[in-house]
Amino acid sequence: MVFGLIHMAYILAALLFILALAGLSKQETAKLGALSGIIGMAIALVATFGQVESSIGFILIIVAMVVGGAIGVYVAKRVAMTQMPELIACLHSFVGLAAVLVGFNSFFELGAVAPETVTIPVDATAAEVAAILATAQSAAGQVAHAMSVSELNTHLVEIFLGIFIGAVTFTGSIVAYGKLNGTFKLRVFKSAPLMLPGGHWLNLAALVISLFLLIWFMAADNPPLTALVIMTLIAFAFGVHLVAAIGGADMPVVISMLNSYSGWAAAASGFMLSNDLLIVTGALVGSSGAILSYIMCKAMNRSFISVIAGGFGNEGAAVEDEEMGEYRELQAAEVADLLKNSSSVIIAPGYGMAVAQAQNAVAQLTEKLKARGVEVRFAIHPVAGRLPGHMNVLLAEAKVPYDIVLEMDEINDDFENTDTVLVIGANDTVNPAALENPNSPIAGMPVLEVWKARNVVVFKRSMNAGYAGVQNPLFFKENTSMCFGDAKDTVEKIVANI
Ligand code: NDP
Repeated sequence: MVFGLIHMAYILAALLFILALAGLSKQETAKLGALSGIIGMAIALVATFGQVESSIGFILIIVAMVVGGAIGVYVAKRVAMTQMPELIACLHSFVGLAAVLVGFNSFFELGAVAPETVTIPVDATAAEVAAILATAQSAAGQVAHAMSVSELNTHLVEIFLGIFIGAVTFTGSIVAYGKLNGTFKLRVFKSAPLMLPGGHWLNLAALVISLFLLIWFMAADNPPLTALVIMTLIAFAFGVHLVAAIGGADMPVVISMLNSYSGWAAAASGFMLSNDLLIVTGALVGSSGAILSYIMCKAMNRSFISVIAGGFGNEGAAVEDEEMGEYRELQAAEVADLLKNSSSVIIAPGYGMAVAQAQNAVAQLTEKLKARGVEVRFAIHPVAGRLPGHMNVLLAEAKVPYDIVLEMDEINDDFENTDTVLVIGANDTVNPAALENPNSPIAGMPVLEVWKARNVVVFKRSMNAGYAGVQNPLFFKENTSMCFGDAKDTVEKIVANI
């Protein structure tokens, strides 16, 4: 009865998770999607409680939930929107670590039920020998009953793969965290790709050695712990190298790829723990992360395989540091005049708008311009900011109407008929080098072609490069002017001048 209820709860939770994914795919239904996810997770938690058999287990779960929940609430309240990808990378690393721990625990549990060597004392009587043998036989019978040979083999593969995926996810996510956070000064955590000589051969060697370790692990009479430990260490190193080798501009794909890995790690844990909901949820996360990675690769004109293989194909790319010429500068009041004389304006926001928290000032500017009869629209690049949809969320928060917020494909052809483009804290996503310089690290990535407009004003604090570390020829074009300063301050000054 209880078992049936738990299964029903699991099915319901799985359905709610699917609804959550469907809801989150559109801004209008995103809140409902998030709510479905929350309800699904609550049901899953209650069902999990229903499975706990001992009171000590119950207490341990409560303690873990209180401690984990308190940390979660604390972190979620403190984290800024711009730090979201770091937080996500950090959470992925937990999923990976959990899969590693579950894997080792499952391995040790196997050892606990394995038949033991029977010792018969030399002076034992015939009756005592019979009793010892009977006990040993019954124990062996229980093991045989608990797991057939094929089940045992499947379980061993689950353990091995679960630990491998978990370990790669764990260290890969930590490096992704470091790359996004930018506070680490270690070479491997820079946003530029780490290009070790023969890096791809190292990756291949790690995979081949792990395969041999799997064969050793499966073929031995007693699966050796050593094989698992060596594989785990290799997988840790593999995860570090895989993500460290990926360049800054490809980080969005890495995040969604690690999202996918964490899903597969959770699914592997589900297999090890024989928990159907964990398998379903892990598969949902794993496949949606993989689909998202694929879509993002297409949006950025990157080969999916080359990105997940650790920056395969990055070799030809060089970060150029050439002299670009002179740039022009405008003050806020001059930008206000320019806007007053424009009849069409497109705003291309980027990461800097999020850092400056300029979205409300930008929304005010939009209102003021619209009130003067100026047509204002927003151009959103698929990887603007530091996570997919980052700009859409900020603009929605500032109550900018959805219908003037357009995706890159919808608006890219309109720049040439536009009077003024305001590039607010965006850099890589408006870099013409992506189209004009085949040696650029962002070569081939579609960008917002803002330079085709009559006037372009770029809001940033300095002439520093963007996340990909590439200089931007846009800043030196004849129709471009720089407006230096914090984006929020500058936009507020412009609003005051209109
Ligand atoms: P970029 O990181 O290329 O550029 C942001 C610009 O904002 C910088 O040039 C910076 O210049 C400026 N800036 C920073 N703070 C402020 C401020 N307070 N006021 C004004 N300007 C400021 O951003 P984009 O959005 O154009 O491009 C996104 C980049 O991030 C891409 O390379 C993308 O691949 C990568 N990425 C995207 C992810 C995603 O999922 N969307 C995830 C991870 C990485 P300055 O310092 O001079 O002010």
